[in-house]
Amino acid sequence: ESYLNPKYRFENFVKGDCNDLAHAAAKSVSETPGKSSFNPLVIYGGVGLGKTHLIQAIGNHARENNKAKFVMYVSSEKFTIEFVNAIQNNQAHEFSAFYRNVDLLIIDDIQFFERKEKTQEEIFHIFNTLHQANKQIVLSSDRPIKELKGIEERLLSRFQWGLTADLQLPDYETRRAILQRKLEENSATLDESIIDFIATNMTSNIRELEGCLVKLLATASLNAKSIDLPLAKNILRDSVRERSQTVTIEMVEKAVCEYFGISANDIKGKSRKKEIAFARQMAMYSAKKWTKSSFKTIGLHFGGRDHSTVIHAVNAIDKNADRSEEVRNTIEELHKRLEIMSL
Ligand code: ADP
Ligand code: MG
Repeated sequence: ESYLNPKYRFENFVKGDCNDLAHAAAKSVSETPGKSSFNPLVIYGGVGLGKTHLIQAIGNHARENNKAKFVMYVSSEKFTIEFVNAIQNNQAHEFSAFYRNVDLLIIDDIQFFERKEKTQEEIFHIFNTLHQANKQIVLSSDRPIKELKGIEERLLSRFQWGLTADLQLPDYETRRAILQRKLEENSATLDESIIDFIATNMTSNIRELEGCLVKLLATASLNAKSIDLPLAKNILRDSVRERSQTVTIEMVEKAVCEYFGISANDIKGKSRKKEIAFARQMAMYSAKKWTKSSFKTIGLHFGGRDHSTVIHAVNAIDKNADRSEEVRNTIEELHKRLEIMSL
């Protein structure tokens, strides 16, 4: 019994800029466990970004391809509980012997070892035994090793002997790819506009992204009907509202400047050149739409203008958007960029 979940595989792990190094290192370790300098391999990243998936994929791959005989996956929590039980039952020795016999040891969420001194000592000895015997160790943590508190120095230093790679928040493209992937796995389809809506708005982590799909697909199957965008928005309204609150006026300024290739001084200044005036109005419009700032605050931010100027800008862009697809696309593109910035 290795406690691996066979559903976590490299085959269904979507690659992207956010997980490039971690993925490559994981693959390499799973091919030649214990034989590279990636020992230990430490994968860190926030909640729901794929740590468990990736480190279990290492175990599954190594086991299925006979790269390691005895693969063991354990969460730090479980390890700690079993260790404490072993001590109470006078089986500490058996416990140690068991783990020192593993060829590929995968420990998930090592931040749980913080302030567990006894357990840390046990890990220390297991680590030394395995490392010396060229057995592979893979660890995951919710933050960089240096930021772990209450873990012995000698253990922290060992955790950094090998390679540390992080999992970052996926960008828009990767979020889309993951959604497509999960839909395929479920033999389901969703309208393109819904996929875009989710990929644009569900930015905090991959588990949440999956959660959206699960909700939509469950609703579709329970009601035996297909889902259109308004219904999808309604079903997902709580998660979406949370996301759009984190856009700030500074982000709007940055996004607009980048998009139009102009400077903040241009936006805040007095120029009446057409492109700049348009960008300025777009900035005010975006700020009104996606931040919680008042007309007054927005006017002040963008060059100390009056609140009526902002109202005028919002109305002007609204009217333009009705008439022009180009304007609608610009709004949408800015919105996308703001969502990514507000991760
Ligand atoms: P963590 O352990 O970092 O909290 P998990 O590994 O549990 O995150 O991932 C959360 C969910 O997201 C899982 O269902 C996992 O399969 C999925 N997931 C994470 N990263 C990816 C990815 N790159 N491709 C496909 N699915 C992913
Ligand atoms: Mg996990």
